[in-house]
Amino acid sequence: MTSEWQRLQSKLPEWVEQNRHEYIHGKVAAYIPELSKAPADALGVVVMNGAGETVVAGDTELQFTMQSISKVFTLILALMDNGEDVVFSKVGMEPTGDRFNSMLKLELVEPGIPFNPLINAGAIAVSSLIRGNSPEERFARVLQFFRLLTCNDTLEYDQDVYDSESATGHLNRSLAYFLMEKGILRGRVEDVLEVYFRHCAVKLNCTDLARMGLVLAYNGRDPVTGVPLIPRRFVQIAKTFMTTCGMYDASGEFAIQVGLPAKSGVSGGIMTMVPGRYGIGLVGPSLNRMGNSTAGVHLLETMSRDLDWSLF
Ligand code: GLU
Repeated sequence: MTSEWQRLQSKLPEWVEQNRHEYIHGKVAAYIPELSKAPADALGVVVMNGAGETVVAGDTELQFTMQSISKVFTLILALMDNGEDVVFSKVGMEPTGDRFNSMLKLELVEPGIPFNPLINAGAIAVSSLIRGNSPEERFARVLQFFRLLTCNDTLEYDQDVYDSESATGHLNRSLAYFLMEKGILRGRVEDVLEVYFRHCAVKLNCTDLARMGLVLAYNGRDPVTGVPLIPRRFVQIAKTFMTTCGMYDASGEFAIQVGLPAKSGVSGGIMTMVPGRYGIGLVGPSLNRMGNSTAGVHLLETMSRDLDWSLF
């Protein structure tokens, strides 16, 4: 066992408790009404190594929905289904500097394709590229892929969160109609959104998220089973997007303060990884101004600084 692993084992619970109080500087997301029920002061983290061993601390039993974290893996699935050329004819490769659900640049910047696959417009376009003859079939393929990545056959989506977002997601609906008008989406808007809202509502815990991060950390091969799950090139693309736009408009600051590819979601989850070493799953539902888990980001700063994890 490395001394780094031992340090994690001895320090992680302390680091969680040191950073937990940061939740008071944020708020639990309420624009999807069902999300507002999450405990604001919860904070949990799981670090998983290539042997599948874990160091866990805090509220790791908490279940939460993936929300935007799912976009990393629907992008990968769409790339596996269609290849790079097709995917990047519908969605760009650049950060926006606008909010995740903004419509602004779609209209302002020609040719009007979403700037990247991690903002809502981009992720909705990506969802429409997943193969299947019906929304049910497309979502079943997404869920199957997520189950493979987590090694968890019981993974499901949360019906209440899905219903809650489906009933209130008017901005996403308007983005989707805009994309349809531009010829970026095909089929029916409601069918595309059904897949999108469902994959955002897939429910898991920090261990599941750490396992997904672990597959990315090992370039697409699950190091525990040895099974190759994602082509290396697509992991490279996903990790690049995570670095440039995975933490909303705080991606630059996160790169400076933590220095790891990461993706957060409005439920307070963060998935990150130390390439070649660990997958990390974290949850802290209280979000800062930029939409990232406030205690979670502080905790990752503490961990990365202490263990010298920054890639830069
Ligand atoms: N389902 C959420 C939405 O579309 C995901 C947003 C997020 O996690 O950033 O608004």
